[in-house]
Amino acid sequence: MIKKILIANRGEIAIRVMRTCREMGIKSVAVFSEADRNSMHVRYADEAYCIGPAPSNESYLVIDNIIEVAKRCHADAIHPGYGFLSENAVFADRCEQEGIIFIGPSSHAINTMGDKITARKKMLGAGVPVVPGTSEPIKDIDKAIKVIKEIGLPVMVKASAGGGGKGMRLIHEESEIEPGIKAAQSEAMAAFGNDAVYIEKYINSPHHIEFQILADNHGNCIHLFERECSVQRRHQKVVEETPSPIMTPEVRKEMGAHAVAAAKAVNYASAGTIEFIVDDDLNYYFLEMNTRLQVEHPITEWVVGVDLVKEQINIANNLPLRYKQEDLKQNGHAIEVRIYAEDPDNNFMPSPGKVMHISEPLGPGIRHDGYVYAGYTIPMYYDPMISKLITWAPTREEAVEKMKSTLKDYKITGIKTSIPFLYRVMNARPFVEGRYNTHFIQDNQEALEPDHNVRQEIKDLAAITAFVDYLAKLESGKKNAPSANGNSISNWKAYGRKKSITRL
Ligand code: ADP
Ligand code: ADP
Ligand code: MG
Repeated sequence: MIKKILIANRGEIAIRVMRTCREMGIKSVAVFSEADRNSMHVRYADEAYCIGPAPSNESYLVIDNIIEVAKRCHADAIHPGYGFLSENAVFADRCEQEGIIFIGPSSHAINTMGDKITARKKMLGAGVPVVPGTSEPIKDIDKAIKVIKEIGLPVMVKASAGGGGKGMRLIHEESEIEPGIKAAQSEAMAAFGNDAVYIEKYINSPHHIEFQILADNHGNCIHLFERECSVQRRHQKVVEETPSPIMTPEVRKEMGAHAVAAAKAVNYASAGTIEFIVDDDLNYYFLEMNTRLQVEHPITEWVVGVDLVKEQINIANNLPLRYKQEDLKQNGHAIEVRIYAEDPDNNFMPSPGKVMHISEPLGPGIRHDGYVYAGYTIPMYYDPMISKLITWAPTREEAVEKMKSTLKDYKITGIKTSIPFLYRVMNARPFVEGRYNTHFIQDNQEALEPDHNVRQEIKDLAAITAFVDYLAKLESGKKNAPSANGNSISNWKAYGRKKSITRL
């Protein structure tokens, strides 16, 4: 049985994993870069070791350094969190060679699913619907043009090694095909060291809906229902919720079965996520599999009542899954918002720096996964996500209301955060009504602008004053004729007068 786990990550997710370790009586080991000496994850762990300078390719991504620490402190296992080495098959293999348990799937599963073209082929073989497109890297432009004409424009050119919302290019017109593919190939080479790109039909106004799965080393595999992740900025998730407002029980069952089939096709063992793109008619297509714990895993934990990290550790201990599909059900509604150290009112510019004050929200139905404390300086080297706020309530409406009031309560000073933006998302009508797709942020720019609420108040005021004006005119029309300019009373005066009217 695993007694000590090294967490090869930082920030909120490192602490999240350590919490479950504590609960299970497992010792935790933190690794940190020179820039993270004062990070909360270092304080929270039972032991902590510096693994190099600030840049992640000199610390959090250096396999040798991490393995050396694991051996030195006799860790039985390594949890990679998300990002960094979590989807690195070489790392998973190396752990195995060194006799250290990698808390995640086999390197074979990581390899197969990490390459989107290979994954598409595998899914086709397993009978899982994939987005219409190519299943070989594009080599010949003429052939590509022919395929695109068959599929129909618009299409997406996607990097086989892509991730984190990067490596995608939308093509609307025939003239864009050749330059688009070439640009995508060189971008993919620069970003991922692999220039393989493929084509997918562009699904119009789609939803991103994903299924959480858990699979053990004994052939058992279950799904833990869906997460709706369509609130996105630059193909990156901003808000997630479960259940999905558009899901039906029939489609849920079918998608869940396909998610399980997808995982079984690569003999998956551990927690994983099957992402689907879904159109308005609830036709769904496999997008990719993330072979790790997901940023948004807490909403599933809450609604299904399962600690996913604990299950990952149990699976790594070779235990059989303790849940059967029919044991699981969705209870209530959970929403997660990702809080970034970014200035939403200045083009989401990163805003690293010293946190002066933080008052974390507390209360029933609120979970906060963070790592920032007052006096802490957020380094500029890493992902700017500083925390995740999750609310739960019996109904979606209540969960949204709770998120609104919780965001209002959440105060951080010293740095800019995306909290005000998230508050506006929670107030935007399409979100409130659960009628949104991946274009939500783009399509609702006005409602999501900083002064929207102020402007709305002015609009309301104008409507009131116009009405009061009308009443005043009616009144004066009774007594005497309207004034020469037809505008006997200014809106502002009328507003003042309105107060006395409402007092009546
Ligand atoms: P999730 O699907 O869990 O929301 P994201 O796609 O947002 O995951 O990625 C989670 C983290 O991993 C983010 O910090 C993101 O920047 C990072 N990430 C994911 N894939 C890659 C990749 N291929 N290259 C670099 N970073 C990545
Ligand atoms: P990543 O590995 O970067 O997470 P994904 O393939 O999961 O890439 O796609 C990320 C997002 O990009 C999706 O959630 C969706 O919003 C958009 N997207 C990807 N493929 C398509 C497509 N074929 N049609 C429309 N939107 C797409
Ligand atoms: Mg994805």
